Amino acid sequence: MSFILWFTGLSGAGKSTLANAIVPELARRGHPRVELLDGDEVRTHISAGLGFTREDRRTNVLRIGYVARLLARNGTVAITAAISPYAEDRDEVRSKSEVPFIEVYAGASLDAVAARDVKGLYKKALAGEIKHFTGVSDPYEPPTRAEVVVDTGVETVQDSLQNILSKLEALGLVKTVSQFQEVRS
Ligand code: ADP
Repeated sequence: MSFILWFTGLSGAGKSTLANAIVPELARRGHPRVELLDGDEVRTHISAGLGFTREDRRTNVLRIGYVARLLARNGTVAITAAISPYAEDRDEVRSKSEVPFIEVYAGASLDAVAARDVKGLYKKALAGEIKHFTGVSDPYEPPTRAEVVVDTGVETVQDSLQNILSKLEALGLVKTVSQFQEVRS
């Protein structure tokens, strides 16, 4: 069965890293068709022109949700990796989903993401040079009922990846690698 794997978390929390890492792992476990809607990429294509006001962030998330639903109902696993800071918007996408909606909270703390500052944005945001920066000068509402929580501020990428895969296996959404090999042999 297809599903939507929805990452949420602060900028630099590891959404893209984990989303990219999981694609080949899903193929090894019986899901050859997987599409990744990355936050930065979406903003240069289907959400080009949108800014970072409350309303634009909502529109961005609902568009991602819409495309994810189209993919999922055609048998493709849809993975999304956008900050998606508002619980209300994520919950709206969840409520519209016809396939299992698996929310993954990349839960690194602000201190952790600011210390690693992968894109150099926290330095600027903390200096007041970027307005509406999530976690610094704009809200981030952590999920209260995420299916998976990974503490990407302390775990290794491999540990976080394994935690997500284990949960998907426990939910019956992916096979283990050995189960998949048995089915094929
Ligand atoms: P985001 O997509 O959330 O903005 P990125 O994936 O671009 O974040 O950046 C996350 C950074 O954190 C990468 O440099 C990655 O190697 C590092 N990192 C360290 N630990 C983890 C982890 N457990 N999960 C994901 N990324 C991690």
